[in-house]
Amino acid sequence: MFANHCTACDQTMLIFPSQVTGMARIEGVTAMTYTCWCGSEQLWHDGLTAGATEPATAATVA
Ligand SMILES: [Zn+2]
Repeated sequence: MFANHCTACDQTMLIFPSQVTGMARIEGVTAMTYTCWCGSEQLWHDGLTAGATEPATAATVA
């Protein structure tokens, strides 16, 4: 369970494991995708931004 700021509903929400839709470990950085309470797909990672939200823009999704 972790807290993350959603870029869609602009709120910091607690995210539970049941909301996580994907996880990957790339070059030492753990990244997770999850579905926010508002229904938006969001990205969390523990990289250089220390867990800050990186918006899943069209560029990164495509
Ligand atoms: Zn949200």
